[in-house]
Amino acid sequence: MLGLMQEWPLLCHKLIDNAERQHGRREIVSRSIEGPIVRSTYAEIHHRALKVAERLERDGFGLGDRIATLAWNTARHIEAWYGIMGVGAIYHTLNPRLFPEQITWIMNNAEDKAVFVDLTFLPLLEKIAGAVKSLKQVIVLTDEAHMPETALPNVVAYEEWLAQADGNFAWKTFDENTAAGMCYTSGTTGDPKGVLYSHRSNVLHAMIEAMPDAMGLSSRDTILPVVPMFHANAWGLAQSAPMIGAKLVMPGCKMDGASIYELLDTEKVTFSAAVPTVWMMLLQHLEETGKKLPYLQKVVIGGASCPRAITTKFQDNYDVQVVHAWGMTEMSPLGTLCTLKPDYAGLKGEARLGVQQKQGFTPFGIEMKVTDDAGNELPWDGKTFGRLKVRGPAVARAYYGGIGAEQFDQDGWFDTGDVAHINPGGYMQITDRAKDVIKSGGEWISTIELENLAVGHPDVAEAAAIGIPHSKWGERPLLVVVRKPGREPTKTDILAFMDGKVAKWWMPDDVAFVGEIPHTAAGKIQKITLRQQFRDYHLPTD
Ligand code: AMP
Repeated sequence: MLGLMQEWPLLCHKLIDNAERQHGRREIVSRSIEGPIVRSTYAEIHHRALKVAERLERDGFGLGDRIATLAWNTARHIEAWYGIMGVGAIYHTLNPRLFPEQITWIMNNAEDKAVFVDLTFLPLLEKIAGAVKSLKQVIVLTDEAHMPETALPNVVAYEEWLAQADGNFAWKTFDENTAAGMCYTSGTTGDPKGVLYSHRSNVLHAMIEAMPDAMGLSSRDTILPVVPMFHANAWGLAQSAPMIGAKLVMPGCKMDGASIYELLDTEKVTFSAAVPTVWMMLLQHLEETGKKLPYLQKVVIGGASCPRAITTKFQDNYDVQVVHAWGMTEMSPLGTLCTLKPDYAGLKGEARLGVQQKQGFTPFGIEMKVTDDAGNELPWDGKTFGRLKVRGPAVARAYYGGIGAEQFDQDGWFDTGDVAHINPGGYMQITDRAKDVIKSGGEWISTIELENLAVGHPDVAEAAAIGIPHSKWGERPLLVVVRKPGREPTKTDILAFMDGKVAKWWMPDDVAFVGEIPHTAAGKIQKITLRQQFRDYHLPTD
């Protein structure tokens, strides 16, 4: 017997409809690409998104078409997303930090038909557009007055294009499993892989994200998503904020410490989310200027392991709660968040920090397990580490075009490629990427743990651990270190600092100092390049 409840398809435009009806006067503040701070409301964004949909339909775009965006976090980018989804098309975020050849490859693979582009990225698009055969139209996210000269064909200024619509448009309706968005993984191994979000997965992800033990968002919040919309959907905030009616503050193209501080302060931001490097820049700015954070209550830190020093500075010096989080593009992206269950809530000092160092537990809607290489599930004992696998309604079940099928098993589990352990309390801790883990004498050494420890040294700016071939042990760790400006720590200083804080056999066999550590387009340490750089390195212990 079926239940007698209504069919109410989970479609993304219902999020912006709700924002308009319930929170229409709530503001969206953007640092525009042209320069000034621009203020808008959910009611205005809703109306303009309807115009985007109307215009797209009139230009011949509709159900299933991939429409790219090459843009920073601004209100215009959000309107474009909702307009694209509302006509049944698919927003496809492009990461401008990738090489032009990679972006061309991705656009061709997705067969993007149109692109919304910020002024910043027009020169980049000019270089590659000719090689994207499917591309029919370029919409520059600006007005006529700011339109630069361009040789690109079929180019319009967004505001003029939008002015030709009146917003008298009804959202299209379709099955909730229809594709809504697309984002490619950064492709550190092989070609990038397309992840295709559905309306249903986006809406469920927004609901999961807002829950108290996830990001814990409310209409009273003012949210600053520093994490870009082109990096895993701004971690879902462009959907969860309109869903709950929070004020949004969009940072545009300026992510340096002073610019982020300015927005946090003038807009009285209560909640923000970003990768650790952004927070390091902000904390450095605060230390240099002596400024405080009277409004900010909570920051979510993820995308890479959050160094302990960042957590302590936020909590002890500025009274801001830190929530460490883990996820990936394939998970929309949330996987785990480290809020404190009652058993841990009373912990203080080092014991509390020890828990906060973990990536956290899964909210309802995500399942996880760790397995050995043969697929046998491993115990939740907080030390046995293995392959981290996940499943849930906002987790990919395949990549676009069916590539990478080996990462998905017949029981619906997705192999994340991360290595982790889970403690009896359900808290997961990432110890490595499967391809980065150092295998010494048949045992695994966590590079993340070594790196977190090393950056705790007051003179170390950044550290990366890699495995160097060793005749006896197979591999041994080399620690690559970038010193803080004006500081001269030696190998002995750093090893002495680490000594006793990890197992003896985990200690690096050597320390190499470099001016810079290579990073991927998503800001992660590029271990492949680093390993190539140290290909001929000979350890003193070998
Ligand atoms: P992306 O799809 O670009 O967001 O990258 C996802 C990958 O980033 C994950 O599979 C992890 O390897 C890494 N990652 C994300 N968050 C964390 C975190 N809190 N700690 C350690 N690694 C993380």
